Amino acid sequence: MAKKKASTKKPAAAVTAEQTKPAPAVKKEEPAAKKAEPAVKKEEPVAKKAEPAAKKEEPAAKKAEPAVKKEAPTAKAAEPAVKKEAPAAKAAEPAVKKEEPAAKKAKPAAKPAAKKPAAKKPAAKKAAPKAEKTVAEQPAPQVEEPKTEQPVQPVESAPAQPVYTSPRRSVAFIGSECHPFVKTGGLGDVMYALPRVLAQQNCDVRVILPRYACIPQKYQDKMVYRGEFYMDLGQTGRSYYVGIMEYVWDGVVYDFIDNQEFFSAGNPYIGLVDDIPKYCYFSKAALAALNYMNWIPDIVHCHDWQAALVPVYLRTLFKDSPVGRAKSVLTIHNLRFQGIYNIPTIRYWTGLPDEVFEMGALKQDYVNANMLKGGLAYADRITTVSNTYAWEIQTAEYGEKLQDHLRYHSYKLRGIVNGIDYGMWNPATDPSLAVNYDITNVLQHKPENKRALQQELGLVQDEGKFVIGLISRLTDQKGLDLVSAVIPQVMDGNTQVVVLGTGDKEYEDTFRYYENACKGMFSACIQYDEARAHRIYAGADALLVPSRFEPCGLTQLNAMHYGTLPIVRETGGLKDTVEPYNVFNGAGNGFTFDRYDAGLLLDAINRAKTEYFTSRYHWDEVVQRDMAKDVSWENSARQYKDLYLELTPW
Ligand code: ADP
Repeated sequence: MAKKKASTKKPAAAVTAEQTKPAPAVKKEEPAAKKAEPAVKKEEPVAKKAEPAAKKEEPAAKKAEPAVKKEAPTAKAAEPAVKKEAPAAKAAEPAVKKEEPAAKKAKPAAKPAAKKPAAKKPAAKKAAPKAEKTVAEQPAPQVEEPKTEQPVQPVESAPAQPVYTSPRRSVAFIGSECHPFVKTGGLGDVMYALPRVLAQQNCDVRVILPRYACIPQKYQDKMVYRGEFYMDLGQTGRSYYVGIMEYVWDGVVYDFIDNQEFFSAGNPYIGLVDDIPKYCYFSKAALAALNYMNWIPDIVHCHDWQAALVPVYLRTLFKDSPVGRAKSVLTIHNLRFQGIYNIPTIRYWTGLPDEVFEMGALKQDYVNANMLKGGLAYADRITTVSNTYAWEIQTAEYGEKLQDHLRYHSYKLRGIVNGIDYGMWNPATDPSLAVNYDITNVLQHKPENKRALQQELGLVQDEGKFVIGLISRLTDQKGLDLVSAVIPQVMDGNTQVVVLGTGDKEYEDTFRYYENACKGMFSACIQYDEARAHRIYAGADALLVPSRFEPCGLTQLNAMHYGTLPIVRETGGLKDTVEPYNVFNGAGNGFTFDRYDAGLLLDAINRAKTEYFTSRYHWDEVVQRDMAKDVSWENSARQYKDLYLELTPW
């Protein structure tokens, strides 16, 4: 899931109701100034962003300059359009000015396009070096395209193409990350895998993403210039450049929204001060781009708070434009992140009408607006990534203060569990592994992978040790306080623990401490490393996922597919995908515990150990059962397709 501390209240949250009243609509400078305040203190770039907006008397051409100066080629790209300012600006208007269809207006802007393609490329090159940023939210663009060249026999895991002949539908996926271009977590995996399977299930799919500068150069190079136009944005008084760069891959069209002013940072997520304007822009630009390309989907499927304004724009500013006829689906990948900021700022950046800032929609309280909350109100359907989580988020414990709102909209809410991409996750062909294996030889080759992992990480090399993996963002959500509490009891001389992840310093340091304290038995890999993750899935015996909450969770699915038994807390998608092991009849997929309690986690780990050390035959049966379990996208994609058909019953 895309993670930004969306619900973090910024200093701006201190703005009182009175303060919120006067400024925004009338004096355009003020909201910007307010927005800039926290920004100025914290993040210079935003201050810069706010400035041009504040000086609304300056012509748009001038305002485009910051971006222009940054990137010479883009400047060129922008210039002609800037000169044609008036028509270009109109091109953006369609969404706003109901009376003229957007697609038509977009056309004038298309004319200056002729020289762009050449101009765009260098921009991409320039952008690339920024890819090295680190930390928890770091994307993992290093992953290669799904590979097929590994020297291994074709496997069970390549399911035969289902003959699925439901009616064709067109779907625009709109979201903030997508493997392999940019990924910080599960959202990136879903945005990659689901469109591809839907394409096989008779859907015409386009994925609309920001063109972040951190997208690896090899993908930037493959993008083809598709067009550009200018779009107004909220009360900024400016016209914003919207470039469209296209990449077609495996039946899916990827359209990247290009604007260096918003997307030139080395990381997709920076902080709300920057991210709120960025995703207000992105959501609107995505819809305007569909109008511009004259590709009007049956369904607009948006993901998480970063795209949650799409359904709101669709039913307000865009309702009389061509794309206004599309139905909308909003998927919650993680309810914790909502895009909350003070009302004047969001009003300023979106230009949405007053009725949208009511309690039934965006308004969170006297001070704040909540982008996800608005999206949930306006979407035609809401999905989340497991049945249990769909139920949990309607309770106070998991509802992140939106439980009432979700209960109100529960008639249009459903859970559809995630799958994993069998091309990307296949132990039989995985190029990262020491030895490839499938269900027929897993018992023979898994120990070899274990030994290779132990060697790689400097652990005692002994196939007899019980190796527990943990691959995770190191945040509160993931139950790491429980893990750190039980490690001393887990380290019994016969057990090794391997942690891979980045995140909160507190957890990073805890795991580093244990690595030092338990030399040769505990490995703390404080990094984001896709290939190493694959090797841990293959080399470990068990994988720990003791989350406080878990919308779906993908690591337990990856683990099962690699013959590694999950030890999970029974929450969200973990509950839906891991059937508890039953010692009496041998059924089940892994070891589970219910309450969020360190003692129960330890008990689950001990039950797993007992089974591993005293009943290996049964353990091995579960290994093979887990590898055979269908955790592919086929089923889930079919449920999404059914949902689209429900919404478009023609
Ligand atoms: P979330 O989206 O909450 O982060 P998920 O379980 O849904 O968690 O998805 C996590 C995905 O990110 C999995 O594919 C997992 O393998 C991958 N991942 C998480 N941390 C790392 C890491 N440090 N290095 C490599 N891959 C990681």
